[in-house]
Amino acid sequence: MFAANWKMNHAPADAEAFMRQFLAYYPRTQDRTVIFFPSALTLHTLRLALKDRTDIKVGVQNIHWEDHGAFTGENSATIARGTGAKYALVGHSERRHVFGETDEQAGLKVAAAIRAGLTPLLCVGETLAERERGDTIAVVVRQLREGLGKAEIAQVASCLVAYEPVWAIGTGKTASPADANSVHSAIRQELRTLAGDRSEAVPVLYGGSVNRGNAASLLAEAEIDGVLVGGASLDAEAWSAIART
Ligand code: PEP
Repeated sequence: MFAANWKMNHAPADAEAFMRQFLAYYPRTQDRTVIFFPSALTLHTLRLALKDRTDIKVGVQNIHWEDHGAFTGENSATIARGTGAKYALVGHSERRHVFGETDEQAGLKVAAAIRAGLTPLLCVGETLAERERGDTIAVVVRQLREGLGKAEIAQVASCLVAYEPVWAIGTGKTASPADANSVHSAIRQELRTLAGDRSEAVPVLYGGSVNRGNAASLLAEAEIDGVLVGGASLDAEAWSAIART
């Protein structure tokens, strides 16, 4: 699974130009899923640019936890679904640390996504201070419990999870493949506690300064099922190279 988080980049015209280039590099492929998370305002243009490439999915970077109402500036999961989104990022570290989103809100957003028929991609990960205190596993387990704990087993089994150490996002620092793999093992164990055998279906992605040079070694780890990529997904050639890893 190869997910591109464009953050607050690529206006509709840039997205069209990107997709013309990307589709030329990226043939239809059966054994993997590529998902783009563009700006909500670019999502419709991106879907049109994808034309008949139904193998490539789109999602939103954020949703509100209510389905509708007086929440100026926000988008609900229902509205996102109506624009053609199939996935929603929830609890990205920039939402948590720049916008103050809480574990509880992440849990409410996971529930809202499921209600609207979107697949949530819940992001978890520790800050540098938490890592240095030796709290990495405790933090990701707490974020998983709060994020997925209210969902039913079948719903947990249809979610995606990304491990994104906050200190590795946009910094050029990556967790070593072995370190990332051991946190992924702990995530897998907690998913089993939450959803039993059905949790085996939940892909766990790694994110944090992934690029074309390090993607293969991360993906070679047994517990890493895909990557969530920010900066390196903004360039069509670089992103297509990663998506073809
Ligand atoms: C992200 O935004 O989820 C991310 C992992 O960013 P980057 O690849 O730039 O570190």
